[in-house]
Amino acid sequence: MVRAENVHKSYGHIEVLKGIDLEVSKGEVFCLIGPSGSGKSTFLRCINHLEKVNAGRLYVDGELVGYRQKGDKLYELKDSEVARQRRDIGMVFQRFNLFPHMTAAENVMEAPIQVKGVSKAAARERAHHLLERVGLGDKARNYPAQLSGGQQQRVAIARALAMDPKLMLFDEPTSALDPELVGDVLDVMRDLAESGMTMVVVTHEMGFAREVGDNLVFMDGGVVVESGDPREVLTNPRHERTQSFLSKVL
Ligand code: ATP
Ligand code: MG
Repeated sequence: MVRAENVHKSYGHIEVLKGIDLEVSKGEVFCLIGPSGSGKSTFLRCINHLEKVNAGRLYVDGELVGYRQKGDKLYELKDSEVARQRRDIGMVFQRFNLFPHMTAAENVMEAPIQVKGVSKAAARERAHHLLERVGLGDKARNYPAQLSGGQQQRVAIARALAMDPKLMLFDEPTSALDPELVGDVLDVMRDLAESGMTMVVVTHEMGFAREVGDNLVFMDGGVVVESGDPREVLTNPRHERTQSFLSKVL
C-alpha cells in the first residue's frame, strides 16, 4: 500500500530523510518510532503531499505520490490529480485541528459534502454512524470546545474516515492527551485495525505497537535503523541505537 524507495527530503541544506526504504502492506498496522527530530512526521507528510520528496520514489497503492513518470523523467502532477491522490489518505495529527465553529457532526460531514459532493442528508447520516463507531453517538451536536481532548481526537478520526480512505496516517495521535484519555483513542484505533484498515502510526505508545502493530520501524537521523515484528524489535533490539532509545521510553 505504501512503498518508499530511497526517499530523501531536505529543508534547505538540511537533509531530514536520508534514504528511507520501507513497505507497508495492505491491511497492515505499521508503527514508526524514533527520537524527536528523526524525521517521522516529515515522512508521513511526504506520503500525504504536505511535503515533496526530493529524491527517491514514494508510492501509495502503486501510484507515484505527486509525480508522473515518463521514461526516466518525473513530471509533477496537476493540482487536481494531487487532490485525487490525497482524497484516499486520512491523516490524524497530534493536535486535533477540528473546525471550532462546527459541531462534531458538522466536522465529520464537511469534507464529503465539499470534496465529494455528497448530499447533506447522506453526509449527516454517515457522520452519525461514524461518531457512534468512535463511541460518540451522543456528542454529535457538541462543539469541539465542549469535548475532551480524547473525544476531539475521536471526532478527528471519524472525520478522516468519512472520506473512505484506503490509508490512515496517525502522527502521535495520543501525545497531547491526558493519560486517562489515551485508552479510548487507542481502542478506536485498535477497532479500526481489526476492520482491516491500512495504518501508518507514529507513536510513543509501545504497548499499542506491541499488541496491534504488524510491523515496527525504528528511525533515527533520517534513516531506518531497524525494523521487524514489533514484539521482536521491542524485546530484542539488535541495534545499539534502538536499545538506547528503548531504554529511555520503555
Ligand atoms: P518529533 O518526535 O519531535 O515529532 P519527528 O521525528 O517527527 O520528531 P520531524 O518533525 O520530521 O521529526 O523533523 C525532522 C527534522 O526536520 C527536525 O530537525 C526538524 O527541525 C526539521 N524540520 C521539520 N520541518 C521543517 C521545516 N518545515 N523546515 C525546516 N526544517 C524542518
Ligand atoms: Mg513528529
